[in-house]
Amino acid sequence: MKLKELLTPTLVYRTALGVSFILVISVAIVFHIQMKSLNQSVDLISDSNKKQFELEKIITEIIQRESGIRSYIITKDSLFYENNLQLKRKLFNGLSQLKSGYSSSEDIQNIENLSKDIQKRLALFEEVLAISNSKRTDPALLHAKLIEGNMQTKAIQQKIYKLIDKEVTKLKLHNINHRYDIETSTITAFSLTIITLVVLLFSLNKINLDFVKVRKLNEELKFVNQVSDNAEKVAGISHWKINIKTGKFFYSDNFFRILGLKPHAFEQNLDNFTPFIHPDDVEDAVRQHEESMRNHTPTSMIYRIVRQDGEIRYINSTGDFTHNSKGELVKIGVSNDITEEYTNKLALEEKNRTLIAMNAELESFNQIVSHDLQEPLRKIQMFISRIEDSDFETISEKGRDYFSKIKNAANRMQNLMMDLVDYSKTIKDDKVFVKTNLNKLLEDVVHELALNIEEKNAVIEIGNLPKLNTIPFQIHQLFVNLISNSLKYSKETTPPIIKIKAVKIKNGEKINDIELSDKKYYKITVTDNGIGFKQEFSEKIFMLFKRLETDIDYSGTGIGLAICKKIIENHNGFIKAEGKPDIGSVFILYLPK
Ligand code: ADP
Repeated sequence: MKLKELLTPTLVYRTALGVSFILVISVAIVFHIQMKSLNQSVDLISDSNKKQFELEKIITEIIQRESGIRSYIITKDSLFYENNLQLKRKLFNGLSQLKSGYSSSEDIQNIENLSKDIQKRLALFEEVLAISNSKRTDPALLHAKLIEGNMQTKAIQQKIYKLIDKEVTKLKLHNINHRYDIETSTITAFSLTIITLVVLLFSLNKINLDFVKVRKLNEELKFVNQVSDNAEKVAGISHWKINIKTGKFFYSDNFFRILGLKPHAFEQNLDNFTPFIHPDDVEDAVRQHEESMRNHTPTSMIYRIVRQDGEIRYINSTGDFTHNSKGELVKIGVSNDITEEYTNKLALEEKNRTLIAMNAELESFNQIVSHDLQEPLRKIQMFISRIEDSDFETISEKGRDYFSKIKNAANRMQNLMMDLVDYSKTIKDDKVFVKTNLNKLLEDVVHELALNIEEKNAVIEIGNLPKLNTIPFQIHQLFVNLISNSLKYSKETTPPIIKIKAVKIKNGEKINDIELSDKKYYKITVTDNGIGFKQEFSEKIFMLFKRLETDIDYSGTGIGLAICKKIIENHNGFIKAEGKPDIGSVFILYLPK
């Protein structure tokens, strides 16, 4: 997962932010509505107060006028009444203001009625004044008009109080509604704020968790990168990437190390890398790369690079096309430093070529020994036997002696040639391992040597032998050689007894400093009661052409045991010999299980 992807808010986080936003907007709207309603209330109260004040003012003016006229009637002092026109203006200004403050037709009608009543009252004031100022004042009429005026004033007062009461009731009702509105909107706003806080806290907690997760993943990613870098270092491999769309190159740290440089030693692109490719390989490598980029086909190539210090390394580079997480086409690849394997492979191929040539030479040697040299030898033996048959008696004593020496030499030469052919067969490469029953194999060997065994009056004792993977014809040859030797190097007076058996390996038994165990090796012994040999020769007897006995009775070529050693080595085993003069010999074979 990419770090950038992890950093993008999760769905929960986004939803929480959205919800918080809506809630904050809602709180703002609630407050706005509340403020608006508060404003309206203030207007309403001030308007109502103004109306009440105007009404109070009207009734006060009328009462004042009434009392002023009464004082004037008693005192005849003009100080007690003001100009009627002025009062009239004041009162009707107030009334017209009141009228403009009402909107319902009922209220307007009430004000108009009030206005009519006031007009009547003002006219009555004038009438009372006129009666009072006349020379012959009728006291009864004046009294009656004053009472009527008082009645009118009270009626106007009643109407005005009614209007004021109406205003007060209206305000009361509005106040109740307004308080209820404020209470509900405060609760709503408070609840919304709490919810917003909870949502924000929740999303904050989520962000925090995400952040911890991202940090943990980031550390894990770092660790994985480190591990992969170390793994590349240890394995001598590196990786690279080319974005086909952007043309951007990426080389892993070990890519630079393989070139003998520090990570990111140069800007990552093909032009900077190409000069490191060996001049003999660069053309082919670049051509293959360009072809692959054109056709989007995979590549696999081996080329050499020349490090800054001049060291040449072999690189195996394979690449293929794929899509990255953004769906862009990229070529990704691995470049391994295969110098050791590759040079080993080249050396092995060279060795194989030499071996093939050697085998061919060995084959022609075998051909020469077994056919070309045998031919003249057989002729010599043939002519020897013809001379023996016809002219032997005519030859002098000395001549006959020489003649028998020539015959022996010719026979020995033939044996030598046959043994050499056998030896060369053990070197040849055609080693096919087959599961072999050793008891069965030894039956064949005894059968092959039957004449010799009979001649020597020998006893062959064979124990229970294992079945194991062998090159059968070689193991056959091994036992033929060992049993033939036991027969050959037997004592003249004692008939040979040859025992072949599998025995247990003793604890701590070693050969060439290698500890042997029953779990890994079979131990097979070939024991005889022959002339034996001194223990000091126990290793020399396995050397090619090494012979201890030069006595004519023990003729041989010194190749037999060298062949045995080679055969055992071909089977990844060991052979050793123990001898006691005049008592006998033991040949010990260790063959892997
Ligand atoms: P060859 O028998 O042709 O001489 P080998 O390589 O078979 O050659 O044997 C090498 C020498 O080891 C022999 O010359 C002989 O002295 C000695 N040798 C081999 N087998 C025995 C044995 N069973 N008993 C005593 N000596 C042996």
